[in-house]
Amino acid sequence: MSEPVVMCEGLVHVYLRGTPFESVALRGVDLVIRRGECLGLVGPTGSGKSTLVQHFNGLLRPTEGRVRVGGVEVRPGSNLRDVRRKVGLLFQYPEHQLFEATVFDDVAFGPRNLGLAPDEVRARVRESLQWVGLDPDRFGPRSPFSLSGGEMRRVAIAGVLAMRPEVLVLDEPTAGLDPEGRRELLGRVRDLHRRAGLTVVLISHRMDDVARLCQRVVVLHQGRVFLDAPVREAFAQADELRSIGLDVPRATDVLLRLRAAGLPVRCDRLTVEEACEEIARVIRGNRSWSSSGA
Ligand code: ADP
Repeated sequence: MSEPVVMCEGLVHVYLRGTPFESVALRGVDLVIRRGECLGLVGPTGSGKSTLVQHFNGLLRPTEGRVRVGGVEVRPGSNLRDVRRKVGLLFQYPEHQLFEATVFDDVAFGPRNLGLAPDEVRARVRESLQWVGLDPDRFGPRSPFSLSGGEMRRVAIAGVLAMRPEVLVLDEPTAGLDPEGRRELLGRVRDLHRRAGLTVVLISHRMDDVARLCQRVVVLHQGRVFLDAPVREAFAQADELRSIGLDVPRATDVLLRLRAAGLPVRCDRLTVEEACEEIARVIRGNRSWSSSGA
């Protein structure tokens, strides 16, 4: 097993503590994220997902409990510069934060702030744009605002990658994209995980996306970890997930309905391709059974 990059122990977060608006967002979260994992973080709205991940790069500090990132404890007074570099956080609709005149300058913003030499900045911008599938020569000089929604989002991701983070946290990265843009972006994230070895945390309410990308799923509910399991095991617990208003991947849903209708399919299949194979297997089995019985 690889080493932990993020560790939370008994993490409690209370907003506006001691005021009439006090709100307890996290009620004691224990979680370990290991290097190279691709983790899906899911849960109903208000369950604490955004609050949790903002602790990973020191945007929020624990009210109680501990958070360690790459061995550094996130607490008042600790030097969080390294933590911020280690964890790249992309909020929803990150393209709203693009503001420079060109794509190149936007992606270069972070590395320039680190005080890197112009050659190094240039190399990082080119590499990051390539990772998100945008040709640096073609896209670098363009205005971010002349791009499609999916391209703008990829520029925003490149801006975070240019900081060379070890962990990439994506909050609803495909929100608002058309199916093609969604597929393209998820493919890029998968590449970053598999080929660049990035640790990825994907917050999503799209269970199909989580099923395609992630190996492990953590479900938050009312500020607590409700479920933490390998992806197949997690989505096999359809009744538990539905009891807190969550869904299962569409392929799993179809298999569950077929089984309820009497077809003896296995339901731990997560993608349309897997579901098709499973249905074909059962139908083939039934056929050979009925022909041998004839
Ligand atoms: P999720 O990302 O799962 O939707 P959040 O972490 O945004 O959940 O919210 C968890 C709880 O904390 C909710 O009850 C929400 O209203 C509250 N909350 C989130 N941000 C703030 C804030 N800045 N001030 C006060 N309460 C907040």
